Amino acid sequence: MKKTLTIGELSVAQGEKVSKVITVPGTNYELPITVINGSEDGKVFLATAGVHGCEYPGIQSLIELSQEIEPEEVSGAIIFILAVNPPAFYGRRAYVCPADEENKNFNHISPGNKNGTTADRVSAFIFDDIVPQCDFHVDMHSGDIVEDLEEFIAVCATTDPEMEKFCTEVAKHTCFTHRINSHGRRELYNSSAIDRGVPGLLFERGGQGLLNWDEVERDKDDIVSICQFLEILDGDPIDNSEGQIYYPRHYWGETGHTGCFYKFVTTGDEVKKGQKIGEIRDMFGELLEEIHAPFDGRVKISNNTLGVSKGDDTFMIGCTKETD
Ligand SMILES: [Zn+2]
Repeated sequence: MKKTLTIGELSVAQGEKVSKVITVPGTNYELPITVINGSEDGKVFLATAGVHGCEYPGIQSLIELSQEIEPEEVSGAIIFILAVNPPAFYGRRAYVCPADEENKNFNHISPGNKNGTTADRVSAFIFDDIVPQCDFHVDMHSGDIVEDLEEFIAVCATTDPEMEKFCTEVAKHTCFTHRINSHGRRELYNSSAIDRGVPGLLFERGGQGLLNWDEVERDKDDIVSICQFLEILDGDPIDNSEGQIYYPRHYWGETGHTGCFYKFVTTGDEVKKGQKIGEIRDMFGELLEEIHAPFDGRVKISNNTLGVSKGDDTFMIGCTKETD
């Protein structure tokens, strides 16, 4: 039987590829989507990019893959949301959705609410109409404009050990050297796993608003490799089973104060438990806060801005040991 995929106003027959900007029902919000409905049956793969509008490698990689992959090569289907947050992409805004009445961050509201604000409705559309049709979800991020990041892959938060094992196996078929387990809840890939039972991974590659073409290539290679692992595309996936470093724990440091942020370590540095890694001072030089490493670990993300507001992220540090 021929399987047609329907997403909002889009209807894509088996063997067909459609790339189109669609309007999310109940809003005037526009989403650029490519659906490649394969000639053969198989799994349905979803990749989302541009949840944060200035995280470019993922967006550019989907722009290219959506033009390069043809239905004849696909068993099952591939769905790309090239930019979940076009208002931030074109408006050059970090973190939030500027078209939302409350400037919400898509990574804080999944799986959305169809009676909520614009971002809630867009999120609900993704989680009610698209994710349930899929077998696997990769959400592609980078450090945002203000973040210096060393690339890593994250396995979704799930309480299902089988799903965790499967996602870990999929993650090992990418070229990422560093792998973490998410402890999150409202991010897109976590919501896919927790709220919809669809396994997922997060890519973090690139940052600081840069379009690095090597990072675009690696993002493309990893998406293709995952589709090969899932037998959606032909060919042998990357095998990185031996090469990945695993971080069972990580720490997000938030500022307790608004002020000037000074960092004494940077992304990629190894730090020791208790080491002073940063501080916040006011504009007159008065010390407001010291930031110390909570464990021995490696700085995966560090903030690049001098000015910070209370609650902003400063560092993300990964730890390769389960306990101290
Ligand atoms: Zn992001």
